[in-house]
Amino acid sequence: MRDYLHHYINGQWTASTGSEKLAVKNPATEEVIGHISAGTEEDLDKAVRAARKAFPRFSQTTREYRVDLLERIAEEYAKRKDDLTKVITEELGAPRALSEKVHYTMGYNHFKQAAEELRHFTFVEKRAASTIVKEPIGVSGLITPWNFPTNQTSTKIASALAAGSTMVLKPAEITPYAAMMLVDIFEAAGVPEGVFNLVNGTGETVGNAISSHPDIDIVSYTGSGTAGSQVMKNASENIKKVALELGGKSPLVVLDDADVTEAAQIAVNNIANNTGQVCTAATRVIIPAKMKAAFEEAMKKATEELKVGDPTADNQLGPLVAEKQWDTVQGYIQKGMDEGATVLTGGTGKPEGLKSGYFAKPTVFTDVDNDMTIAQEEIFGPVTTLITYDSLEEAIDIANDTIYGLAGYVVGKDEEKLQKVALNIRAGRIVINGASADFSAPFGGYKHSGIGREWGDFGIEEYLEVKSVLGMSSDE
Ligand code: NAD
Repeated sequence: MRDYLHHYINGQWTASTGSEKLAVKNPATEEVIGHISAGTEEDLDKAVRAARKAFPRFSQTTREYRVDLLERIAEEYAKRKDDLTKVITEELGAPRALSEKVHYTMGYNHFKQAAEELRHFTFVEKRAASTIVKEPIGVSGLITPWNFPTNQTSTKIASALAAGSTMVLKPAEITPYAAMMLVDIFEAAGVPEGVFNLVNGTGETVGNAISSHPDIDIVSYTGSGTAGSQVMKNASENIKKVALELGGKSPLVVLDDADVTEAAQIAVNNIANNTGQVCTAATRVIIPAKMKAAFEEAMKKATEELKVGDPTADNQLGPLVAEKQWDTVQGYIQKGMDEGATVLTGGTGKPEGLKSGYFAKPTVFTDVDNDMTIAQEEIFGPVTTLITYDSLEEAIDIANDTIYGLAGYVVGKDEEKLQKVALNIRAGRIVINGASADFSAPFGGYKHSGIGREWGDFGIEEYLEVKSVLGMSSDE
């Protein structure tokens, strides 16, 4: 049993000022695997005070010092690969291979990338008779979701450290353990006390306390739009900077010259990846009307080949993270059927033979109209929709007909058409023909998908203030 009942404040594991505990479950077995403390506003305030105290010294550290620190963190992180991989599978239900190749690796890459960006980051710039100086913003409040426990914590922490900001993290209460393991890594790497603080708890208590705290200078939030909007409202009270990474309903536009099997496989990979619990998942597959029959056949075949089950075994999809998430996904599948879409494969209920665990059937809907609820709302499960188009202009219109703008995908051969689609989708990240991840490229959304950017140098910028000194000429 992982009963980790302390918060990490000022370099010490510290008892909570409250007595409430939150149970953490393994979603594959539905068993309670441990408890964490539900932090209080007082706990959060203590952590903010520790971060504020550490700020003057940490903000003055040199670039070289912080590059070394990030490199040591990456080294220590790598030493704990097996433990991190195991814990992510346990708390999130991610299949072992995914925990290692995606979750663990993304966290590692963010620390390495931040060190790399920092080596040549421009903090001081000469412009006419002025000098522009970028300075650490102060204390950062970081709030992260459950779907990528090491990716989302690491990108925020690495950027804040690179900038010279101190911080308080509140990880998702349903997947807290991978985040808590970071403490051991930071201690081994020599992160000074007070620079990194962690307070566990609910969004309602600790999350709201972060976004409302007068001594936090930026709140960087990743999660649902509803909570993101609340964060922004609270932050406005004391004019706090906000960075928001929210949801998506990303389009995958298939060109008429695309290889049907390859394009369908890319679409199916998006259903399988993290059991569809991915904010950038391509959940609207926009295909040429004349390709419909062939595409449906390829999608059905590839989806039905997916192996769902025990994440510690050789499966491609584990369970959804929690019962609440399972219920939500079931509700959307039912809604899709009620609104007249056709289930090509999958549907409601659990996959055959899986009685316990929050497992869902990989589901593909066809005959979908972009106005349907399943094409407009984020489902956050292994469910996708097929929508047809007659002209490329229509495909782009459908792609953009959503409140979201996090990601977009395009598959095909004609270079001109690929670029036309890529440049006309209003979203923060477009992937052409399944291109692999680039940790130096910014990540974030247009429209309701968020404000600001993470990853690489753009991520570091979020944790900096910009000062113009007129009448000063200087080089760094
Ligand atoms: P959530 O918003 O309920 O929770 C995310 C985090 O916010 C948790 O730590 C939670 O405790 C906290 N929280 C909840 N209410 C809060 C409040 N009022 N104030 C401050 N913090 C609060 O979201 P979730 O259900 O955990 O995550 C799923 C959602 O997050 C999906 O909509 C998904 O698209 C989105 N998401 C977006 C990205 C991205 O990078 N754009 C990444 C992952 C998840």
